[in-house]
Amino acid sequence: MHEERMIELLVELHEGLPRLGPGNTECTLRALAMCEQLPAAPDVLDVGCGTGAQTLDLASATDGQITAADLFASFLTQLEANARQKGLAGRIKTRAADMNELPFPDASFDLIWSEGAAYIMGFDPALAAWRALLRPHGYLAVSEVCWFKSSPPAELQEFWDQNYPAIRDVDDNLAAAADQGWQAVGNFHLPVSAWTNDYYGLLRKRLPIFRASNAGDSEAQEVADMTEYEMSLMDRFADWYGYEFFVFRRAP
Ligand code: SAH
Repeated sequence: MHEERMIELLVELHEGLPRLGPGNTECTLRALAMCEQLPAAPDVLDVGCGTGAQTLDLASATDGQITAADLFASFLTQLEANARQKGLAGRIKTRAADMNELPFPDASFDLIWSEGAAYIMGFDPALAAWRALLRPHGYLAVSEVCWFKSSPPAELQEFWDQNYPAIRDVDDNLAAAADQGWQAVGNFHLPVSAWTNDYYGLLRKRLPIFRASNAGDSEAQEVADMTEYEMSLMDRFADWYGYEFFVFRRAP
């Protein structure tokens, strides 16, 4: 299957879902609380915001202006509708943009946020590329898939070798960030429920609808199969891998 077609199908599968990756409000607020010295009304950039669950949480929990950037306009349209519904539209601006080439001047933000999206560039390239957008002492909060235990089962190792060979353990990610000059503020594991309940819960309900509306389309059925397989890995191997939320601070 062409990559473009696969992405199109994945976007269709996720459209309308409140969350496109593991996470929940509690974890977003826990990471935000680590950013103790934010200005009263921070300028925040949410990279790979998707349909914006965390964008809305950030807008509710701060008095700041949130710029929500994603490659796919259909996700941003949904985010805008949700923001209007919650009375937060005045403080959220959306921007269709590629995270590899974010169209913002240097030193524009006090806080850069990215849940479940930095892997698209890779953790190290994302940290390197986004640094200049932060003001001195600005914060970066980013969640990243990590190994939680060494010697994973062969099946799991193979999945990650194929899908994200750059996956590392938490300490290696902390070391890589320190090498780039980031100050570590804090980090924590996302609970398994942030996958199985908050993300996969609704995705699981969506799958039969997606399958039915794409009956006879073997590529769509393949995307559904892949998604079910990915969910089965978390059901079986949650001890070995998961998302880690990292909060860093830019040295001046
Ligand atoms: N933060 C959201 C979405 C995570 S999924 C959440 O946790 O629910 C990853 C997001 O990255 C998707 O919304 C996808 O559309 C977006 N994305 C994929 N490639 C991108 C790119 N090159 N630039 C910006 N966003 C991208």
